[in-house]
Amino acid sequence: MVDDDHVIRRSMEELRHTFRTGITKNVDWRKAQLGAILKLINENEDTLFELLQSELGKHPVESYRDEIGVVKKSIEHALSCIDQWVSPKKGRLPLLFFPASSKVMSEPLGIVLIIGSWNFPISLTLDPLVGAISAGNTVVLKPSELAPKCASFLAKTLPDYLDPRAIKVIEGGRKVSSQLLEYKWDKIFFTGSTKVGKIVMAAAAKHLTPVTLELGGKCPAIFDSLPNSDMKVATKRIAGGKWGPCSGQACIGIDYLLVEQKFASTLIEQLKKTIKRFYGDDVRNLKNLSRIVNKVHFDRLRNLLGDPAVASSIIYGGSFDEQNLIIEPTILLDPPVDAEIMTEEIFGPFLPILTLDNIEESIGFINSKPKPLALYAFTKNENFKKRILAETSSGSVTFNDTMVQFVCDNLPFGGVGQSGFGRYHGKYSFDTFSHEKAVLDRSYYFELEPRHPPWNKFKLEFLRLAYSYKYVGLVLLLLGLKKPSNS
Ligand code: NAD
Repeated sequence: MVDDDHVIRRSMEELRHTFRTGITKNVDWRKAQLGAILKLINENEDTLFELLQSELGKHPVESYRDEIGVVKKSIEHALSCIDQWVSPKKGRLPLLFFPASSKVMSEPLGIVLIIGSWNFPISLTLDPLVGAISAGNTVVLKPSELAPKCASFLAKTLPDYLDPRAIKVIEGGRKVSSQLLEYKWDKIFFTGSTKVGKIVMAAAAKHLTPVTLELGGKCPAIFDSLPNSDMKVATKRIAGGKWGPCSGQACIGIDYLLVEQKFASTLIEQLKKTIKRFYGDDVRNLKNLSRIVNKVHFDRLRNLLGDPAVASSIIYGGSFDEQNLIIEPTILLDPPVDAEIMTEEIFGPFLPILTLDNIEESIGFINSKPKPLALYAFTKNENFKKRILAETSSGSVTFNDTMVQFVCDNLPFGGVGQSGFGRYHGKYSFDTFSHEKAVLDRSYYFELEPRHPPWNKFKLEFLRLAYSYKYVGLVLLLLGLKKPSNS
């Protein structure tokens, strides 16, 4: 039997040693590692399609859109920007410190631990890895045990492509994860539930290790009135944001939908048509729909509909194919707001629709719940958009679409409040895995004597003016400038 603790300790020693050699700070090394991930993906694309199909029932197109393509895009973006990211940024200094120069330089943190989730087992491990490598760190990657084939693939294949002295994969479940958390890391990047996020943060606090927590929650979508042609597009995007990514098992998938009473029936009819077109309507033969990850989650989801008040609110779907772990896209109309389906993250293919007298009430409803990771609003009303932005708080807001914010390298991805903190993607990933070091280089040419004792009233007035910024030029010219004496 492998002693996990021994493996972890040995891995960390090697990673620490590698980091100290300075090799990971070399930008060419970083580029070579990024290129190697790209090569790994290109050479194993068919295998990855097969793994994601067998593990989660993902169609290859979905796998490419949500995982493989996402990572390739991130790598290409990092490769095209890394020279700029690593170059120190010149800082502007107050005139008070003239002559001097300053810069902000990004340095790697050291050894980082990345703990992944199962719903996007490739992108949610490799995408943070791209950031960690770009920033020059050594890494332990701990994929989720609930996607074991993908985890084994990463454990077996990454060492063939990447520098094994600097990047290691450690497989395992809760026990291994807990063991990993006992150690002192320079950064922990965690993707998973809010519940486990708290455990990770508590463990990190013992070592004062900084954490990025990419957590979950209930992401709302607001549906305002739209012209007919826009509504057709909007319902496709809503279906895509609910059932499209991993059958609703997505942190930024729509959890529930808010709509004005008078538009609800039109929206529901349009949604039903869209579901039939996208996925079919025979639960034994649904197409293009991922399966539920395992029996435990399948039963958890079935139990959510077990409450009679919830069951009676189902207006579409509600069938289960236990053998294949498939659940039909299901719509519920006005389930009780205190039922579990409305208080816990659904993470599955149920869409509760809540009707309101006035769509602007949606703001108060959203604010009565923890801050979501993503908020979606289908509206062309610019004033309403302004109100949503000003009066709600969420990791991101997307108007008139769903999910697409995830693939924009120039937008930060992350939560707020219970949906997590810290951000990544593009330059934000680089920053997440870097320390921004302030560097100030002073000259000996002048010395501002009033900064030194012996104190007197004049020096106090001088400092008042100097810190006020307003009269710095004048102050420097008229007062305290003196060539430093050697005494
Ligand atoms: P999870 O929290 O159960 O597991 C995540 C990781 O933590 C796994 O690698 C697991 O091995 C590890 N883990 C589990 N229990 C642990 C414990 N007690 N101590 C230490 N480590 C432990 O989450 P999950 O089931 O993999 O994913 C579902 C959740 O993740 C949902 O809430 C979803 O919203 C969230 N999520 C968030 C994002 C995001 O980017 N914000 C992405 C995907 C999933």
